[in-house]
Amino acid sequence: MSRTVAFIGLGHMGRPMAANLVRSGHRVLGHDLEPAAVGNAVKAGVEAVPRAADAVAEADIVLTMLPAGRHVLGLYDDILVAACPGTLFVDCSTIDVSDARAAHERALAAGMRALDAPVSGGVVGAEAATLTFMAGGGEAEFAEARPLLDAMGKKAVHCGGAGAGQAAKICNNMILGVSMIAVSEAFVLAEHLGLSHQALYDVASTASGQCWALSVNCPVPGPVPTSPANRDYRPGFAAALMAKDLGLAANAIEGGGVRAELGLKAAEVYQAYAEQVGASEDFSGIVRTIRSTVEAPQGDPT
Ligand code: NAD
Repeated sequence: MSRTVAFIGLGHMGRPMAANLVRSGHRVLGHDLEPAAVGNAVKAGVEAVPRAADAVAEADIVLTMLPAGRHVLGLYDDILVAACPGTLFVDCSTIDVSDARAAHERALAAGMRALDAPVSGGVVGAEAATLTFMAGGGEAEFAEARPLLDAMGKKAVHCGGAGAGQAAKICNNMILGVSMIAVSEAFVLAEHLGLSHQALYDVASTASGQCWALSVNCPVPGPVPTSPANRDYRPGFAAALMAKDLGLAANAIEGGGVRAELGLKAAEVYQAYAEQVGASEDFSGIVRTIRSTVEAPQGDPT
């Protein structure tokens, strides 16, 4: 069924996601504060609407893809009043779990319905419609959003109630951040012990050290030819985004009184690293920072 969708936030992720909705036959009313972002979306068939509230007033479902929780909550305060009662608001941004729950509450208080549905898969996944969505909210809301999520991705998981999608996203990325540091430290230790990258990879990738950070996004060049390490750490998944997601995990850890020392340490490590390289390096480049802190290796690492 073709829907009228308001899509707000047409940046790196939002533009290709909106384009895939157009491709699937939906009418997409797009809005962004940046005229250039709107221009790119219009080329893909999105109809530009100068005021977010006007797009929302005409839509039967509202999608947002914004930088952070303050943008989502600020926008909701402006647009919830403009929507028809019962309109479904789906926020795909990556934001604090507490902000996602606040967004649900504000939507419900205004007579609307809500779903948090952050994504993994990055810009490549957004372009190719192969994103994974992690959704939080009611069953009925998930079912209603599902055809749109399927038009933008290859998998959608209903994780539970309000905020559960964001919780799944930050817990997964906390595993990823901690495991990338662990894999990078292991390679640097191997270098120090005169063990080749290939030998460590051949053992660990088929043993109990196996994980995505090793076998897909291997932080040293050679063993996995497609990993960012083979292209001077061009992203990939930018260090700045990993730092952001680990910061959200750290907020949740501290807010919930959970003892998750490695998650907090990973947030600290990636924050410092992202301050140096921003979005220019893949998060696996952390191996270079770790290597720079140890003494010269004892043998040839390659
Ligand atoms: P981006 O900065 O490229 O796009 C965000 C857009 O939102 C910008 O164009 C900005 O102008 C617009 N915007 C901000 N406030 C607005 C407002 N009030 N009204 C209208 N437009 C507004 O960011 P992105 O890379 O597209 O990421 C968007 C979200 O997706 C973030 O929460 C990010 O963490 C998450 N995410 C990004 C990636 C990635 O690889 N880029 C991967 C997974 C998740």
